[in-house]
Amino acid sequence: MSNLTVTSPSDGSTIAEVPVNTVAEVTELAARLRSNQQAWQELGPDGRAEWLGRWLEWIAQNAERLIAMIQAETGKAYGDAASEPGYAQLVVSYWIQNGGRLLADEQPQSTIPHQRLIIEHSPYPLVGVITPWNWPLTMPMLDIPAALMAGSAVLSKPSEFTPLAWAEVVRAWQEEVGAPDVLGIVNGGAEIGEAVVDSVDMVQFTGSVRTGRAVAVRAATRLIPCGLELGGKDPAIVLADADLERAVNGVLWGACVNTGQGCSAIERVYVEAPIYDRFVEMIVDKAKELRLGTDVAQPLTRDVGSMATRAQLEIVERHVADAVAAGARVLVGGSRAEGPGWYFEPTVLVDVDHTMSVMREETFGPVVPIMKVADADEAMRLANDSEFGLCGSIWTGDRDRGIALGRRLEVGALCVNDACVTNFQLDLPSGGWKNSGIGVRFGGASGILKYTRPRAILSTLEEPATEPHWYPFGG
Ligand code: NAD
Repeated sequence: MSNLTVTSPSDGSTIAEVPVNTVAEVTELAARLRSNQQAWQELGPDGRAEWLGRWLEWIAQNAERLIAMIQAETGKAYGDAASEPGYAQLVVSYWIQNGGRLLADEQPQSTIPHQRLIIEHSPYPLVGVITPWNWPLTMPMLDIPAALMAGSAVLSKPSEFTPLAWAEVVRAWQEEVGAPDVLGIVNGGAEIGEAVVDSVDMVQFTGSVRTGRAVAVRAATRLIPCGLELGGKDPAIVLADADLERAVNGVLWGACVNTGQGCSAIERVYVEAPIYDRFVEMIVDKAKELRLGTDVAQPLTRDVGSMATRAQLEIVERHVADAVAAGARVLVGGSRAEGPGWYFEPTVLVDVDHTMSVMREETFGPVVPIMKVADADEAMRLANDSEFGLCGSIWTGDRDRGIALGRRLEVGALCVNDACVTNFQLDLPSGGWKNSGIGVRFGGASGILKYTRPRAILSTLEEPATEPHWYPFGG
């Protein structure tokens, strides 16, 4: 049996060895979870909510321990790690409170008087959830509580780089909470991800565009549905009438939060010419103040943690180096930090353009590339010049104009005078456009009904001996 070696991004040491599952084990676990699903479904929304509630309590009681595990396996700053158990609780509470209502039978009006109509939302028996490394707890939590609440059993596969915190939360469901055996975890890389797709009835995938496409093709050959939440290259547009102080603070946080390793992180900034110089000056000053490091011993003494993987560090380095080679200027940061660990300095780049990888490909690092634009129309054109369409933000003193302009942005989520925060409003749907994904990942009715299949039910209200359209034709 082989192991996954989990490496500390902050100092390169080995922090755990985790056994890799075999394909046969994935198949066996899938069969076991599936066989337990019917009883789980029959508990009904209230019964299932009760188990989710006990799980919620466990997460709340163990938040600090989970934060420490997340920091160890990702190297992120405490402030970023601390958001994960908090967010998990928000999501679980949301589905406990709203799942039953959203799953309730619908009773559309019949167009024929003596018929009664019902739409039942019946769960897919087994849902597969495959997640990346950037938020080890948040990523599975965005999908799994909704699927469980819908009545599905869930087979999860975390990233091979960050399997620890999620494994602990699944262990708690099974051992501490003692909940029904309908939530399982398998570990491994691509082969095990493929085995998950091969053994479930619906798959929800979060990760890169390349892998998402492979998952969609594999799901298509089995004729099972898939939801995909993929990359982003989220634009921020700063208009001349914006509150500059707020725009600078918001853009800097939106670009560097979670060390920039967020699909909804700001990756490109377009600033109207009249305020461009001042905006750049202010963001450079504030970027210099950001404290780099992983503050395990002294929480909240660092702002930006390490990159979670060496490969991601190398991507960020390459994007910055390519941009500089093509004429961009680094105003602050620009290179990996000295010493151990996979740290990249918060970086502000100017004189960038759309021929550069830093403006076209997902950088997923603490980099703020800024372009000067003549007006809002030029900003909109450039913002939409991307294969991605996840989130975007507009910063302006005229909120209505911000919303109106935002309707022209090809993105699944828009913030006016804020960034990355639509995900905290769980009545809003979250889903990417263009190459950023397929379907709504979470939020509102579509975030839970996706784990169900509608069953159309028709019942008579009167039973005459025959119907006009039955035999014999012609009466
Ligand atoms: P990845 O695509 O390499 O891996 C994601 C997951 O898929 C991992 O668990 C991996 O083991 C698994 N996997 C790999 N090959 C597979 C295959 N052939 N079949 C099934 N599963 C397979 O992505 P990553 O490097 O872990 O994460 C980074 C990417 O994820 C970035 O591109 C980022 O934009 C994206 N991401 C998107 C969101 C979002 O919500 N849109 C959130 C986080 C990350």
